[in-house]
Amino acid sequence: MPRSLANGDYSLIMAIESASRANSWYRVLSDRQSGNISCDCPAWTFRQAGGGTRTCKHTQIAQLLLTAQNTAHPVMRARGAAAQANLLIQSTQQQWPGLGGRWSIEQRTAQIDGVPYQFVLLGLVTGNGTTATGTVAFTRRFHPTQESMIAGVAGWAGYALAAEVARTAGYALAGQPPQHFIVTRRAGARAGTQRPGLSDILRVGDQIDLGDHYTPAQRAENTLRLFLGTELYARLERQHFLDVSSALYASEQRVYRVRRDPHKQCERRVRVFERGRYVNDFCIVRGQDVPEADHWLTVFLQLISNEAEALSVVEEHNVFSPHSDDHYAREEETVPAIWQPRAA
Ligand SMILES: [Zn+2]
Repeated sequence: MPRSLANGDYSLIMAIESASRANSWYRVLSDRQSGNISCDCPAWTFRQAGGGTRTCKHTQIAQLLLTAQNTAHPVMRARGAAAQANLLIQSTQQQWPGLGGRWSIEQRTAQIDGVPYQFVLLGLVTGNGTTATGTVAFTRRFHPTQESMIAGVAGWAGYALAAEVARTAGYALAGQPPQHFIVTRRAGARAGTQRPGLSDILRVGDQIDLGDHYTPAQRAENTLRLFLGTELYARLERQHFLDVSSALYASEQRVYRVRRDPHKQCERRVRVFERGRYVNDFCIVRGQDVPEADHWLTVFLQLISNEAEALSVVEEHNVFSPHSDDHYAREEETVPAIWQPRAA
């Protein structure tokens, strides 16, 4: 990764496919502090800043799409029921289960340096009130059909949405953009030795079988690891939970402690704290045949994006008194559960 992108607080504005290499991606990022836009293509990376602003054709088109003088030609737009029936949205929901709210999609065509591109813009207004967008630019001749765009949209745009939702829930460390140029796996790369890329997590579209022999459980673990990022994933591994501050029960200062089985086998009940006091256990049952890591991420994403929906499955018989699933030994809480307001 170019040094300019290695550290810092970035959001992924757009993933743009290389004009000459199918499924090679450049990431256009925005620095959240300064608002500066950067790209990891060779032209941007090796261009000297000089006196003016550093740009490349990708940052230029990204900037154009962000402004009112958007010259890209709209070809499709859907929201509401039409969006729910859209193949690319359904695939994104399958890749990032738990992300909930009102979805929308827009497709535009434009040329970059004379090469025809197709832009797909996903939008999500979460039940908790976060507005997030994700954009992918496909080289038309490499991805001529909707089906051929599934992996790219679910991977890149879905990732951008999930990252933005996590950031507003106080998890800025989650959702650092994945590596670029990743869709072809390097031979000999072993799981666990490097940060996974999108190819290690995708389970939708035409790129499911990459010959990497990942089991669904390994792919789910990779998704969790990539999404949380090194630091947060290590925290989850160490303490076996992450806390989510409630948006709906802010006045009670409710915190959900989303726990994980150290053996990564069974699902654990969510511990509920109010004003720092451990009050209840919520049982959110795992769907059939879902890997444990997948279930954990689903509950986490659902609570940070659409708390009302997450709670809709918690009925009276799913609420238990504290320590209801301490099977072997009593598990005391030693880390305070501190409610935090949502980020703007
Ligand atoms: Zn570029």
